[in-house]
Formats: sequence, C-alpha cells, structure tokens
Amino acid sequence: MQNPGGFVISLDFELYWGVRDHRTVDQYRNNLLGVRQAIPRILDLFERHKIHATWATVGFLFFKCLDDLKAALPDELPFYRDTNLNPYAALPERGNSEDEDPYHFAPDLIRKILATVGQEVGTHTFSHFYPLAPGPTLESFRADIRSAQSVARQFDIKLKSIVFPRNQISRQHIRICAEEGLIAYRSTEADPWIENGNDIVGRAMRLADSYLRLSGCNCVTPCLDAEAPIVKVSQSRFLRPWSAALSKFENVRMGRICASMDVAAKYDKTFHLWWHPHNFGVHLEENMAALTHIVEHFEKINREMDWPSLNMAEVAANILRVEKSHWVA
Ligand SMILES: [Zn+2]
Repeated sequence: MQNPGGFVISLDFELYWGVRDHRTVDQYRNNLLGVRQAIPRILDLFERHKIHATWATVGFLFFKCLDDLKAALPDELPFYRDTNLNPYAALPERGNSEDEDPYHFAPDLIRKILATVGQEVGTHTFSHFYPLAPGPTLESFRADIRSAQSVARQFDIKLKSIVFPRNQISRQHIRICAEEGLIAYRSTEADPWIENGNDIVGRAMRLADSYLRLSGCNCVTPCLDAEAPIVKVSQSRFLRPWSAALSKFENVRMGRICASMDVAAKYDKTFHLWWHPHNFGVHLEENMAALTHIVEHFEKINREMDWPSLNMAEVAANILRVEKSHWVA
C-alpha cells in the first residue's frame, strides 16, 4: 500500500502573536497563560499513546527576549495597508525573558516539544504573516520564511511544514515555501465552511458541523503539488475547545470525530485534526478528557487496522519518496 493514510494532528502555536489584531493581552490572559500547563499535558498524552503531531510555531516565539528578536529581523519587512496587522509596530515594550513575558516568547516550550518523540516543530511563519492581506510583497514573505528557518537552525532544526496564518494561501506563496525548503503545507479544501467566511451564518454552520454530520467525514488524501515539490496535507476539522454551554452534547461531538476517523482508516484516507494550544488554555481538564478520548479511539483503530499516526513532515516524506521512485523508474 503506497499511501495508507493516517491520523494527522497539527497545532498552530502562536501565543499572543496570533490574536494580537483582535484582542488585548488582558482579554485573553487566561488562555495564553494556560498554554504553559496545556502543552506539557498534551505532550505527555502524545508520548504515552505514540501520537505524532506538527506544532506550526510562530518564529517570534523561538526568541528568549526582545533584544534577540530585534537583532534578527527579516531583510524586508511586510508593509500592511491595515496597520493593525503589522506585528513589527506592536513589539512589546519590555521582555527580557520568557518568564517576564510569557505572552510573546516560548523557547522553553519549543524545547519541550522537540524533546518529545514524534513531534515536529514546523512554522506558522516568522511573524504570523498575513499572505493575502493588502500590502505585503512576495519578497517580504520570502524574507519572513528565511528568518523563520534561520531562528529554527539555532534549535538544530530545519523547518519542513507550514500552516499559513488565517489559512491565507496562494499559488505564489506555496511556490516560495517550496523554494525555501518546506515540503508540506496545510490547506482547507476538506473544510467546506472556511469559504463561508466569518459571518454569523458561517460560524453557526461550523459549530453545528462539529456535532452533526453536515459536511461528511472530511477525510482527505494528501498529494504532491502539481507545480512544486511540496505536499498538500489538507485539514479535516478544527478541534473546538470544550464548551460549558454545549457540554450535554459532548458525546455527540466525540462521536462525530471518532466516526470520521473510522471512515478514514477503512478507506485508507487521512483524518487531519487541528487546533491551537491556547484553545486548551482554559477548561484544561475537560479539553484533555476530550483529547484522551480521541487518542484512545485512535489506538483502537491503529491496533485493528494498522492506521498510523503521522506528523505533516512524515506524510510529505512518504509521498515524496514514492514520487521519487516513480521518477527514477
Ligand atoms: Zn494563527
């Protein structure tokens, strides 16, 4: 079997850089601080159950302090017409360490992720870059990815996978990622509500779809891009944070995810679940109970059907290996 599919997890690790344009630190403090407990708990669960995952990490988080970040800025900074989107105009005023500023820096957490078997640290761009926002040039995007690769090298890693902030993707940006050494990207085709935007109808449909089988199982088949040596690993579903208001329906939500995984395993497909660590920043016990349920269900399928757990780079490497053997043959 060339591509038996698998269970893929990716997490967008961004702390305040990902919510900066629509929330203050004060408004989101509990979620952001809760990440410090959530990540070690998630890693421990993944290690015990042999789960592989990709942590698409904002490059700014690799730095231990503001001075180090300022000394490593990209050659070309993005110019956003909406100045609110510009992270370089919103650098914190102080920040001598991760302890002093746990909202903007996270090298110790990144080291914990790297020390856990099967975990890939990928990129969510250097600066939480918005590729399709009016303003930034393609060259400023390239410079951003180069800076992400550069700071990752200080942690002895070569970035291989990317998750585009706000899922803003274009052909040109994908090609630049491949040219800068990335081999996998997350896309959104299997997630039908993404196109609906963020209006009230789109949000309501996405919420309902987490509980009811509105959009099918959302299984995907990762594939090599037609124009560049990079593999598309589409997302299947966002793992919503636990909700007190909907707690009565928690078994329905879990049933929907587990049934989708069953279908994926049966038909040699991939089920790709994603979320942010800060989604677990509050109600950690309830969120961990949900994730444990999912992971235990995966273990059962894995035992019965040999359906593997893979991070995005592993998915891409498998596909590139097969494609290469075709070229050689
Ligand atoms: Zn993000």
